[in-house]
Amino acid sequence: MFRFHGRRAARRLLTTVVSAGAVLATMVALPAAATAAPQQAPTAPALAYSGSCPTAGVISQGYHDGHDGVDIANSRGTPIYAVGPGTVTHSGPAGGYGQWIRIRHTDGTVTEYGHMYHRDVSVGQTVTGGQRIALMGSEGQSTGPHLHFEVHPDGGFGFGANPVTYLSARGVGLPCTPGGGGGDGTSFPTWGSGVNIRAQATTNSSVTATLSGPTTVTVQCQKRGQMVHYGGYSNDAWSYLPDYGGYISNIFIDVSDAWLPGVPTC
Ligand SMILES: [Zn+2]
Repeated sequence: MFRFHGRRAARRLLTTVVSAGAVLATMVALPAAATAAPQQAPTAPALAYSGSCPTAGVISQGYHDGHDGVDIANSRGTPIYAVGPGTVTHSGPAGGYGQWIRIRHTDGTVTEYGHMYHRDVSVGQTVTGGQRIALMGSEGQSTGPHLHFEVHPDGGFGFGANPVTYLSARGVGLPCTPGGGGGDGTSFPTWGSGVNIRAQATTNSSVTATLSGPTTVTVQCQKRGQMVHYGGYSNDAWSYLPDYGGYISNIFIDVSDAWLPGVPTC
């Protein structure tokens, strides 16, 4: 059922490692002054991204002079998702929030999430838009389960910008339905039993869920990760499953293509 080019891919991987070693050796041989200069990375342009719905629920408090965010209320345990791709800068206890998460996005904006009772992500972790990051709670100064959501376009800690306007510009109108719109998600069958879904596209990263048997899963995007060898096949493609907050090796996706057709790159 699988038609992979495992050997060719493995050899290409080896070539990459060898050439990286060669580059390193060249750099070591150069005088210090010569190695320092080319390290300056070009300034990345501000990248726009298509937004994702942060969570399902009703707007229990809007944005106003005394409230620099929006409150979305739902039952305890409702999943909360990153509104866009980025890196987690804060994840842990925080004053009035009980717990908070901050994510710095590719456009420099920081989004902030508060009051959750469970966090899925840790500082330094890279997340994709729509990735589950937490479960809704009522921690800290809160009268009931809700997400307090803020947007900081300058990346700082001052009075936040209007989240409704920010998300609207990225195609998300509050209140919203997670996974809806934005064309995120294609269904695929899996095979095998006890298949682990991982926080990152590597076999040693933490397990976010385990599929006990063949399951229909929704794939949001795919990317190259660790090479996986199983049953005589090899595959380095991994798919992001927003419903499980993690990646599954495409070796367990039951289609003939190692790289899934019609699924965007993460
Ligand atoms: Zn609030």
